[in-house]
Amino acid sequence: MDDELIKRAADIIANSKKLLVFTGAGISAESGIPTFRGQDGLWENYRVEDVATPEAFLRNPRLVWKFYSERRRKALSVKPNAAHYAVARLEKLFDDFLVVTQNVDDLHRKAGNKKLIEIHGNLFREKCTACAFIRNSESSYEEPPLCPDCGAMLRPDVVWFGEPLPEKEINEAFDFAEEADTVIVIGTSAIVFPAAQLPFIVYNHGGKVIEVNLEPTPVTDIANVSIFEKCGIVLPKILDEIEAIL
Ligand code: NAD
Ligand code: ZN
Repeated sequence: MDDELIKRAADIIANSKKLLVFTGAGISAESGIPTFRGQDGLWENYRVEDVATPEAFLRNPRLVWKFYSERRRKALSVKPNAAHYAVARLEKLFDDFLVVTQNVDDLHRKAGNKKLIEIHGNLFREKCTACAFIRNSESSYEEPPLCPDCGAMLRPDVVWFGEPLPEKEINEAFDFAEEADTVIVIGTSAIVFPAAQLPFIVYNHGGKVIEVNLEPTPVTDIANVSIFEKCGIVLPKILDEIEAIL
């Protein structure tokens, strides 16, 4: 790995006042959670349109809950990795700080991050399809669970394809990006919009962009530093450098 790139990234971050971290499925890959765009076009052996759209839930809520129950069990069986812990270290160094994640696996929270916005929801929350009921849950279900308040079906509180992002979360994330002087983009293919706009918002007002991924993405075009290497290896090194500077 290129130590010069690590130093350049650390320098930019250490000189930032308002720091945004934007993460995707790649940051959880080294924990053992598969990323989304597998080579065979399947997502953990399912077709996305069968399990992660509102239409799929209307058609076959049992199958959708089977899929999310499997994802819950998987996410419960793994731990945050070195990249998540490096991001938790960052939060301790910067007052004006935010992680925006597209992941639903809860691993940033488990690593210790508190300033966290989950723009695609959380795997361990479920909400009523009819009323405002919402609860945390680690359960697996054979049959769709029913709302204790109104009896309607509960659904996973995640954002499915074709659904809008939660308004409060996306507004907070965009407002922060408008003023951030640096964004670190980690393990996202950066093609799921509008979330993928975040790095471009920072870039457009003159902020710096640092990217850690295995391969180039649309963000690479606007990045001041791109490092193509596993984030579990790169991020702890960047953190060591930053802590030496600060
Ligand atoms: P994606 O699967 O489209 O892209 C993953 C990216 O991570 C790729 O660019 C890949 O090159 C990179 N990557 C893989 N391993 C890496 C590593 N070790 N270090 C650095 N980079 C690595 O994921 P996305 O951009 O997050 O978009 C997929 C959507 O699917 C999201 O909206 C998300 O909500 C959902 N999703 C979430 C999870 C999760 O919660 N862990 C998992 C899969 C999908
Ligand atoms: Zn209800």
